[in-house]
Amino acid sequence: MKKLTIAVDGHSSCGKSTLAKDIAKHFNYKYIDTGAMYRAITLYVLENNLYDGKKINENALRYDLNAGKINIDFRYNPKLKKSETYLNGKNVEKKIRGIEVSDLVSPVAVIPFVREYLVAQQRDMGKEGGLVMDGRDIGTNVFPNADLKIFLTADAEVRAKRRYDELKAKGENVSLNEIIKNIKERDYIDSNRKTNPLIQAEDAVLIDNTNLTMQEQANIAIKLAEEKLNEKK
Ligand code: C5P
Repeated sequence: MKKLTIAVDGHSSCGKSTLAKDIAKHFNYKYIDTGAMYRAITLYVLENNLYDGKKINENALRYDLNAGKINIDFRYNPKLKKSETYLNGKNVEKKIRGIEVSDLVSPVAVIPFVREYLVAQQRDMGKEGGLVMDGRDIGTNVFPNADLKIFLTADAEVRAKRRYDELKAKGENVSLNEIIKNIKERDYIDSNRKTNPLIQAEDAVLIDNTNLTMQEQANIAIKLAEEKLNEKK
């Protein structure tokens, strides 16, 4: 049986990873969270003083990337039944979701050599198919020939409220306004950058989940994927 490559792109905090995981679980495919990779590099920048509050030290970052000093991988946690992000052998899953990383990740993701480095890894991870990858440029750049492309969006305030509830539940001390600001800023930077901006691919299916439950959005996407599988038979 043929296996699909499925790209899920869209705005910040609109449930891309939930949708991508649901599709992957249904078809028993691999799930890859490319945002976590940009977040891990951002954490490296913060932890190694490559950001002075205004500017990212791009020369030092390029040097460290080329010297193989920044290694990112995903490892399955059998207890939590999910895969977690590791940076240089350390579990950074919690740290990369915090507001400090969220505030700097889009400026880091603008840097062309960072994108080049991560896109090469993403293509390699997905070369055998049977995967769902979520991000901003998966359908337009990483896998332009993906079998199914979904572009997910939702109203910005609704997205912020969902993110706020999620972070609060994890015990993070954040304000709703701070989150709205972060989401809007990331959307702006991601959509307006020169290299691989966030845009809907021509052949992507748009799903606006403002008024959908997670189950409803999963059902829509799984049906689309089943149609693609039937076409491939
Ligand atoms: O998906 P997530 O919100 O975790 O992504 C964090 C940030 O990483 C995004 O706001 C974006 O700046 C960047 N990103 C990207 N390209 C991707 C995935 C994420 O530029 N494929």
